[in-house]
Amino acid sequence: MGTPPDSFEDASTLAYRQWQQRLFDSLETDFSPYDPSEDVQNWLRAVHRDNGDLPVDHLAPLVLARRARIATAVTAAIRAAFMADGRRDLAVPVLLEPPSPELTMGRVQVGDQEIQGLDPQDIAVQAGDGFQTYVADVRALIWPVCRTHNNGAHPRIISATAVWQCPATGHVIGSIDPAARNR
Ligand SMILES: [Zn+2]
Repeated sequence: MGTPPDSFEDASTLAYRQWQQRLFDSLETDFSPYDPSEDVQNWLRAVHRDNGDLPVDHLAPLVLARRARIATAVTAAIRAAFMADGRRDLAVPVLLEPPSPELTMGRVQVGDQEIQGLDPQDIAVQAGDGFQTYVADVRALIWPVCRTHNNGAHPRIISATAVWQCPATGHVIGSIDPAARNR
């Protein structure tokens, strides 16, 4: 027999840990419930507080909505930066596939890039990748470019922030979406 929890906080933390483990053990989740991102943990805890032990198929629409919301906002910010850099506007599609028996979690894509994970910085890197690939395919254009080294930049996580990095020396050109943390 275990020791009974001595406060409501402990009981809710224990219930959360058990739910987290169930999600982790499920073959249907496509993200880690142990993602160390504070944003992700705060979100998952709020979902659990408001809904209790949601099964994966009931959690899926919430995951899809979070990914879609962040991916749409980040893609709009990248598009604005693209135009601010003097490029002709290009609407890079954000695609949503709802959850189904074949695709339990549903799917969000920016161009051809699938959005994985739940953290805004991870989503910003994936959206940056999708945007960059779409621009290359549709416009035959490399963007963004490091003006110092004349190299195409790569989307990367550096110091827990989604940035465009120049492959020449690894220096950071700028945030992919300076507001990503608040999306
Ligand atoms: Zn450079």
